[in-house]
Amino acid sequence: MTLHQTNLTTAELRAIDAAHHLHPFTDTKGLNAEGARVIVKAKGVHLWDSDGNQIIDGMSGLWNVNIGYGREEIVDVVAQQMRELPFYNTFFKTTHLPAIELSRLLAEVTPPQFSRVFFTGSGSESNDTIIRMVRHYWAAQDKPGKSTIIARKNGYHGSTIGGASLGGMTPMHAQGGLPIPGIVHIAQPYWYAEGGDRSPEEFGLWAARELERTIDELGADTIAAFIAEPIQGAGAVVIPPATYWPEIQRICRERDILLVSDEVICGFGRTGEWFGCEYFGVQPDIMAMAKGISSGYLPIGGVMVTEKVAEVIANAGDFNHGYTYSGHPACAAAAIANIKILREEKIVERVKSDIGPYMQKQWLALGDHPMVGEARMVGLIGALELTPNKKTRASWPVETGTVGLIARDFSFQHGLVMRATRDTLIIAPPLVISHEEVDALIAAAKKTLDDSWAEVK
Ligand code: PLP
Repeated sequence: MTLHQTNLTTAELRAIDAAHHLHPFTDTKGLNAEGARVIVKAKGVHLWDSDGNQIIDGMSGLWNVNIGYGREEIVDVVAQQMRELPFYNTFFKTTHLPAIELSRLLAEVTPPQFSRVFFTGSGSESNDTIIRMVRHYWAAQDKPGKSTIIARKNGYHGSTIGGASLGGMTPMHAQGGLPIPGIVHIAQPYWYAEGGDRSPEEFGLWAARELERTIDELGADTIAAFIAEPIQGAGAVVIPPATYWPEIQRICRERDILLVSDEVICGFGRTGEWFGCEYFGVQPDIMAMAKGISSGYLPIGGVMVTEKVAEVIANAGDFNHGYTYSGHPACAAAAIANIKILREEKIVERVKSDIGPYMQKQWLALGDHPMVGEARMVGLIGALELTPNKKTRASWPVETGTVGLIARDFSFQHGLVMRATRDTLIIAPPLVISHEEVDALIAAAKKTLDDSWAEVK
């Protein structure tokens, strides 16, 4: 149903939504008292709501619409694919053209150590696949005891039981009895919130060595893998100090632990490199992918593995795992068209050398605002830490409410979607954003800060 096909008013649409739709990660009662924002169309970096308001999508949907909205090429190839072969599976000794082409393309655009992909339908499914795959990998080498997976507090790896267990979000664990056994969470490299008096470099090393301490305590012969996001997205865009990732890699290599990079947000150009691990100069054994793989035009994900991992899996008989929509032809066709656009238009290179630095300069300058304790950004993913006291990086008293959410509401009023995690404002616009659109985004962010400061200082 679109507004073009209905004469319903926004209020009527909201009432239907309230009556029949349970939204993800939402306090339903609170939402229904207010009414959901109804988005009716999008083009480039802009959204339009049912009242005709034009909004800059500073979050690329859910960090996924990397190439922006409205690319007709994708619509055309998907329509053609749906006419030719809308669905066939990749089980039972069968494959199809989009799965073949996408797997080859992924081997080309991922770092050189990667050669093969297992297709999924989402980031959560990719991470569930990884739990089973790494345990199978070690069992196939007569090391079934290597089964525990180490992840991080405040990490996000999805909402399925496996994904939410790998994630370190305590409010998620509190619902449904998570995490499942065999998953251990260590400290996150969140210097602003937890670094105290240590320098970021010292803190980065300390956080990485939490992994070393944990492996040594539990015994390397019990640990299958370590998983983390290169930049922790939902957990407030935690950009680790430069010392962190190389140390993590050293620890995993020395102790024969698989290194898994969750590239669901960072992959496909977000950091100005094709993958976040490349930005930090590390070579993981496995990558979880989704979101930017198709820029959200259709749902698809994948698990990318090195030839070494692939060989073990390939020689271990049946891997008893798969999804009806693993490699779905129309979704794979959308991903192929998306990756071709990223490549041919040199969108990733543009993030690294043009629009990324252009936006970073203005975004980091927001750090001068009286309510901003830290502004940070890599490529086109960034955050503002809001605080009543820049020196101490303090939080607001509980009575003030969640200032991030107050600011997020002002942001909407100024025609900009930002996301809030507690008192952190988050930005991750489409990678195709123009210089003028960055200027407009920054102007709206400034107004947001001014209005929020006037309300809570
Ligand atoms: N991993 C990361 C790093 C994510 O940010 C997300 C979603 O935001 C996921 C996994 C889960 O992906 P999905 O929502 O497609 O299941």
